[in-house]
Amino acid sequence: MENTDRRIKLLSREAKERIYQGLAITRLPRFLNRTLFRKAHTVITYHGVRNADLPIPDECFIARDRFISQMLYVRRHFTVVPLSQALELAVSRKKPVLPLLSITFDDGFQNVYDNAFPVLKELGLPATVFLVTSLTDTDDTIWYCVLNHAFSETSKRSIVWRDRRFDLTNPGNRVHACLTLQGILKEMPQDVLVREVEGIITALGFDPGSGLPKNSPFRILNSRDIQEMHKSGLIEFGAHTHTHSILSLLTEDAQEHEIRSSIDRVCAITGKPCTLFSYPNGEAGDFGEMTRDLLIRNNIYCSVTMMRGPNYPDTDRFCYRRYGIESAMSDHRFVMNVHHMVWVKRSISRANRACPGRA
Ligand SMILES: [Zn+2]
Repeated sequence: MENTDRRIKLLSREAKERIYQGLAITRLPRFLNRTLFRKAHTVITYHGVRNADLPIPDECFIARDRFISQMLYVRRHFTVVPLSQALELAVSRKKPVLPLLSITFDDGFQNVYDNAFPVLKELGLPATVFLVTSLTDTDDTIWYCVLNHAFSETSKRSIVWRDRRFDLTNPGNRVHACLTLQGILKEMPQDVLVREVEGIITALGFDPGSGLPKNSPFRILNSRDIQEMHKSGLIEFGAHTHTHSILSLLTEDAQEHEIRSSIDRVCAITGKPCTLFSYPNGEAGDFGEMTRDLLIRNNIYCSVTMMRGPNYPDTDRFCYRRYGIESAMSDHRFVMNVHHMVWVKRSISRANRACPGRA
């Protein structure tokens, strides 16, 4: 029975892929975007842009050549505007001919400056980068990258975590171990997660406080490069908490600290008020009414999620939807996402639950 269910699921996924593939090469998605979804604002989000393969693949790090071809596509078929400007345009009477799209990056990796910024500059495309402010100007990085780095570099042949043994003798097993642990740890409160990551790093033979090497793809942006991007007028910055904690797991005081510290730091680096925010993880259960109140009190104008779907002038600004662009996303899936041709009912109903009466 289970096998039959799995087969049906697989077949329906394959059928869906075929339909997407067939539709994406026609003009239909663009036509529907300009008619049925003409008032919709698309927001896409990336994390890192890499110029070489990672030893352990990570869906958050897209290859530079794929990023370039996606940027060429959105430049051709959208009016690409910064998120802050799109919010004003969405409610104004003056609508651009092509649908609105905004490009965002979460976490603030150094490779956004090294690999994405030159492309955006050349194509004249604006973007918004959300910073994890405790990590800027340090050689530390987001926990899932700490794990990726350690599993890539370790000379250990196995690791035991909570009575579970992971074999590390070949690349495939390392990928499996790293991704399995990332999936489990992601659900944990920040203080437990930090302790667990430190334990795993130590078990893999590293000092948790040793920091990343200078050429690591996982490094986080420094103030000088943030300021250079900001001065270019193309890149704006928002806050993504101070330590990348999932806000709904925190007390009110701790949430306030995460929100306020990150906003203050973004202001200090750019010299401009910070009015944009991105929820870590960004799914429906990762923030709540208390988070919204704190953001409003701290002068945030819009906060973005990782829930997929189009945004309209009446979309709740504290539950703004984005399409996450993963490294393995096919060209046709990218096209279908940006034109809102993917099945988003589930994520919209989740957004409605997260933002009762507003989304
Ligand atoms: Zn993040």
